[in-house]
Order: sequence, then structure tokens, then C-alpha cells
Amino acid sequence: MDIVLTGTGSPLPDANRAGPSTLVKAGDTHLLIDAGRGTVMRLAGGGSLPGFLAAVLVTHLHSDHVCALNDVITTHWIMTQGGGSLRIYGPPGLAEFVERQLHALEADIGYRIEHHEVLTEGPKVAVTELAPGDSFEVGGVRISTAATVHAPVKPTIGYRLEHDGAVAAIVGDTIPCAGVDELAAGADAYIQTVIRRDLVELVPNEMFQDILDYHSGVIEAAQTAARVGAKRLVLTHMVPAPTPDQYPEWIARAAEHFDGDVVIGDDLTTVTITRRTT
Ligand SMILES: [Zn+2]
Ligand SMILES: [Zn+2]
Repeated sequence: MDIVLTGTGSPLPDANRAGPSTLVKAGDTHLLIDAGRGTVMRLAGGGSLPGFLAAVLVTHLHSDHVCALNDVITTHWIMTQGGGSLRIYGPPGLAEFVERQLHALEADIGYRIEHHEVLTEGPKVAVTELAPGDSFEVGGVRISTAATVHAPVKPTIGYRLEHDGAVAAIVGDTIPCAGVDELAAGADAYIQTVIRRDLVELVPNEMFQDILDYHSGVIEAAQTAARVGAKRLVLTHMVPAPTPDQYPEWIARAAEHFDGDVVIGDDLTTVTITRRTT
């Protein structure tokens, strides 16, 4: 299983980091988790395209995680020449969000149907709203879900993906909680969105300080990884985004609490996990 960090950014605009999204390639099955700013461009860089996606999994409806969903939907529609249906899974509220996206695209959809004879209808999207704890299978990938904690955003959903003996936990924005522990238990890769509490606390801006409430810090993510026996901790959605010369310091903080590999994500960083041999 290849885990491609298609977006390691956050709501803060960054020239080198697209908004949050992760591509998982499990054999021929491509899954996209979240669709932040610039997702489609990074999908192309990661060797995929919307038309190749077996499904999109959404963790929550914060704008930084879903603002490029309209691009994924439209590009999927055009590149499959209207022939494919895009499956999208996520929390309650997702169906209405997608419906409204389609309304926003109404003019474009009309133009293209009028212009291209092959297109006879708008994008086909199959939305499934999940309850935490639901599990299902897509293209040979076993997907389980659990509630994470990112209040006041409710509900938020984390995902555990299992394929050919390899396990990835992609949990989205959350503080440490029982749901994350369940999803990341024994995972070959635990992908966590993180902030640096010590650095955020230095910024004298009340609105910025609010993010301390509902994100894991690097140390908390490392403690979770150690507690649940994850093999690898992959940090993404870092706030404030580190420059490469700062990576060793971030990794050192995590390493004080976790013995396994710690990976700092750049856009298109790829982590490959395989069936355990032990
Ligand atoms: Zn976020
Ligand atoms: Zn969020």
C-alpha cells in the first residue's frame, strides 16, 4: 500500500503545501482522503487522477479539507466523459454539502452538456453518510471508521484502511481520543494532522490560539503512536509549517515519546507499507 501525502498544508496558504488530502494506492484501488486546496494538481503529481478514484473519504466538513471537492467531482465527470459515478463517504451533512456544490456548478454543467453531445447529464455522485463505527469495503480495501474529537466540528470520522495485510490509519483533525486509538492500533502507518503547541502559543492572536483546542500536538501524536503500538508516525497538516531545516527538531520532539519511525510530510512524500513478515 502506498500512502501519498497529496496535501500537507493547513488553512494557512503555503506556496509549497497543498491543502489537506491523502491518496492511498492499494494495488489498483485508489482512495482519496479529504480534498483540500490543490488536491487535483497533487493527485496528478502522485500518479492518479479523479477518474481513477474508487472513492473519496471525507473526515469532516471544515473548508480546508473539502474546498477542492468540486474540482474532484467536475474533473471526474469530464475525464470519465460522464460515464462514471464518484463514490464519496463521510460524516452526516456531506450529502447536502455535495448537493450544494452541484448547484454552484449548475452553469458549468449546463454549458458542457450543451457543448458535448456525449454528455447527457451532470456529474454522477454517490454519497454515503457514515455513522462512526461503520465499516465497508471498496476495491478490496477494508475500511473501518470511528468518531474522532474535533469539537465543535461534529461528527468527525477517522479511517482505518486494511489491504493485503497492511494497515494505515488516517484520522484527520482530532485531539487524542479512544477513536484514534482504535483506528491506529498496531497500524503500519498512523497519519496524524498536527500542530506545534509550543510555537502556536507564542503567536499573540486569539483566533489562532483557538486551534490549540482541537488538534493533536506533535508530542500527543507521538504518545498516541506509542500507546497503540503503531509502527510509523506520519505527520501532516503541520501548523506552523516547518521548513526542511526544522524537520529534525520536529522529529526529535516526537522521538522522545515514540520509538518507531517518524516521517514529516512534504507534498508527494510517499510511505509504502507492506504485509508484516513477523
Ligand atoms: Zn484542518
Ligand atoms: Zn478541521
